[in-house]
Amino acid sequence: MKALKSDILWHNSTTSETQLWFMDHFRIASRATVVGEDGSPIFVGPPWSIVGASDFNGDGNADILWHNSTSHETQIWFMNNFKIAARPTVVAEDGSPIFVGPPWCIAGAGVFQPNLDLTILAQSAWRYCGKCSAMFFDGYPTKGACLSGGGHQAAGLSFLLPHSRPETPVAQESWRFCHKCNELFFDGYPDKGHCPVGSGHEAAGFNFVLPHDLGGRPVAQANWRYCGKCHAMFFDGFPTKGNCPAGGGHVAAGFNFVLPHDLHNSFVFTTPLKSGGLAALGGWVTLTIQSDGAVRWQGHAHDSGADGYDFSISVIVQTPFGHAVAVAHSGQVGGFFTPGSRDHDWDETYGGQAADFFFEFAFAEFHTNLQYSSDFGSVLTGLVDWAIKFTAGSVAGPVWNSVL
Ligand SMILES: [Zn+2]
Ligand SMILES: [Zn+2]
Ligand SMILES: [Zn+2]
Repeated sequence: MKALKSDILWHNSTTSETQLWFMDHFRIASRATVVGEDGSPIFVGPPWSIVGASDFNGDGNADILWHNSTSHETQIWFMNNFKIAARPTVVAEDGSPIFVGPPWCIAGAGVFQPNLDLTILAQSAWRYCGKCSAMFFDGYPTKGACLSGGGHQAAGLSFLLPHSRPETPVAQESWRFCHKCNELFFDGYPDKGHCPVGSGHEAAGFNFVLPHDLGGRPVAQANWRYCGKCHAMFFDGFPTKGNCPAGGGHVAAGFNFVLPHDLHNSFVFTTPLKSGGLAALGGWVTLTIQSDGAVRWQGHAHDSGADGYDFSISVIVQTPFGHAVAVAHSGQVGGFFTPGSRDHDWDETYGGQAADFFFEFAFAEFHTNLQYSSDFGSVLTGLVDWAIKFTAGSVAGPVWNSVL
């Protein structure tokens, strides 16, 4: 989620003035009295009181939530900076005003159901320049400055570059947009390389954090390299190495970057259920991560043998950026000589917190663990790419982890 700084909302119980402190970290940058639609200060007191503040219309401006202890009306002041833009009464699903009072009270306001735009944490429109081989931002009408003359010329895939997240052993930060040439360059050294426009590159905008050394993926291209001469990111997958402002072609150094492109609406991880030895338990499991953050957990278990099984299956999907989603399921299938269905199916969907780091699943590793015991008493354990053990069956929904 985009990190926004917060400000402080005050209310004076004597004068009924509402005031905002615009903060710069812990220091007040400025303060303003809240004014009405006509620009004049507005004074509201009991039975009205402020019960919360949050961005209700998603315009990036916090709004003020009021409740009337007598009429039980709830009202939102949609704010434009310190001025009220509108103040509608909160209505029910059917559009009629809703009045709720004790024993209920509003205990907080916030974003409980994030509907994040992927571009908040990753920027699209990054392209390969077919003339100089550098990566450049193609989101502006002007195409920067290409060493081969004129602006850069986009060719091939459209990349989506992650930014504003922690560096990890497989993702390097300090990749920046140069506002002079529109190229992507590494800003981690005091020396800013060679800009086609002259002298060094100059950073602007996001701090990109780019995955590297993860191999090619269906939705990510490898062979993007740092040029040790000009400090730009260039594509090293062709025999010719483009045009480097430091002279000749670019020269690769350091990591092999793997850059995401053409992300789909979901990432699907699936594997057959395989039991070890003589056991006759089979089937499949599928974990789907959707771009809205929801996680769908499906499976099918089948017993083709004589005895039945109790089984537990757990799967974990881990991203190289330190996020993971884990789910588990327990069930029972009957055998030829034992009661119960030979088949067991499940299909569950969980609303999710995966939206914040959806694109990371382009690089995720999928691990499963199957444990099962036979009706005849023997305990068997099958192992399929065992990664992290957690107690199967004790997990009601997905487990979300930020650090694993
Ligand atoms: Zn170019
Ligand atoms: Zn530059
Ligand atoms: Zn170069």
